[in-house]
Amino acid sequence: MEKIKMATPLVEMDGDEMTRILWKMIKDELLHPFIELNTKYYDLGLEYRNETNDQVTVDAAQATKEYGVAVKCATITPNGARMKEYTLKEMWKSPNGTIRAILDGTVFRAPIIVKGIEPCVRNWKKPITIARHAYGDVYKASEIKVPSKGKAELVFTAEDGTQIKELIHEFSGAGILQGMHNLNDSIESFARSCFAFALDTKQDLWFATKDTISKKYDHTFKDIFQEIFDNEYAKAFEEAGIEYFYTLIDDAVARIMKAEGGFIWACKNYDGDVMSDMVSSAFGSLAMMTSVLVSPEGYYEYEAAHGTVQRHYYKHLKGEETSTNSVATIFAWTGALRKRGELDKNDALIQFADKLEQACVQTIEDGKMTKDLALITSIKNPTTLSSEGFIKAVRTTLEQIL
Ligand code: NAP
Ligand code: MG
Repeated sequence: MEKIKMATPLVEMDGDEMTRILWKMIKDELLHPFIELNTKYYDLGLEYRNETNDQVTVDAAQATKEYGVAVKCATITPNGARMKEYTLKEMWKSPNGTIRAILDGTVFRAPIIVKGIEPCVRNWKKPITIARHAYGDVYKASEIKVPSKGKAELVFTAEDGTQIKELIHEFSGAGILQGMHNLNDSIESFARSCFAFALDTKQDLWFATKDTISKKYDHTFKDIFQEIFDNEYAKAFEEAGIEYFYTLIDDAVARIMKAEGGFIWACKNYDGDVMSDMVSSAFGSLAMMTSVLVSPEGYYEYEAAHGTVQRHYYKHLKGEETSTNSVATIFAWTGALRKRGELDKNDALIQFADKLEQACVQTIEDGKMTKDLALITSIKNPTTLSSEGFIKAVRTTLEQIL
């Protein structure tokens, strides 16, 4: 078979620990034999980030703006322990945070569904994709521990000195206070990323806030979404046969539990933090969760939702066999290759991405899987494979269906 050619490169961001090991195996076994891979390579491994004073992360994000599509391996976000382990010059920021700030994107997380790994919620038949607004609210709040009796007010001072004041509460004793904000620009970007991704994946979009209680704050989210939908997306949604559905957050939660899935759920920052963990654990495994950062301009960065799987890496370093699930990382590659194929009208590349995904699913459904899935599957007598063994099994399935 002739190798598939790629006219335009995609941005490749390498990473850390166990996922860096998987990254190389995936390229060697599942990509290089079939594709003349054309990537702009950036090494986001912590050592090179440190060496370049984290410039490599910024360069990789800029390159994503230039080429439109990126695939990223999981990376270490340094903490105190990592400072020592890697003798870092500084506690570099989370690469995902840096990239997201540069692309101004929204993260969409979706589970990979296979027969034999059933979600805890019986009626969830299709993926539920969660979009979390990753700016502001309680994550950028100011707080006060009120020590005693007194008056709390909310004050906004404009540049010309005029003020808007609201009484928060007349405290008769000790208590607590919180002030938070969001920005119309950020909410607009979030809305556009959500509408664009719904169109891209042909799925309905749900959005929910508590606008009945929060008549200015949450209501602004509701209004901005509705206005952008009406002015920019309503027609395209109709043509695509998909819907934008707004409801109250508690109603949304109740409906989600009874729904079949197959839609995108846009969440405010806190709702997304909480609900994405609930949805991913109900779907079975963090190792089967994909993640894509979508910018309002339509740049895409694909990755696995999980981290670098540090515990497995230390086993690997000791020469012990590991059984780390590579499915979400493989799907990060297929997501990026498919998107590259769509943008370049490269059908061979699109079909290859589809088949590689199919090969992963079929391998698991045939009973061959890594340990994390073997522990939770309803398939009788599954074969537990090593990290490498699983990737080789996918290669065998792939060769059969190509
Ligand atoms: P993690 O890497 O997601 O792993 C946590 C645990 O989940 C693992 O120890 C393992 O459980 C299980 N797990 C996750 N992915 C798996 C897979 N593919 N196959 C099998 N089991 C899997 O999270 P962490 O240990 O909290 O974080 C490690 C590093 O990753 C940190 O330095 C963190 O900064 C970074 N991180 C990066 C990203 C990113 O780049 N997007 C996201 C999150 C975390 P068992 O040990 O029980 O087998
Ligand atoms: Mg969370």
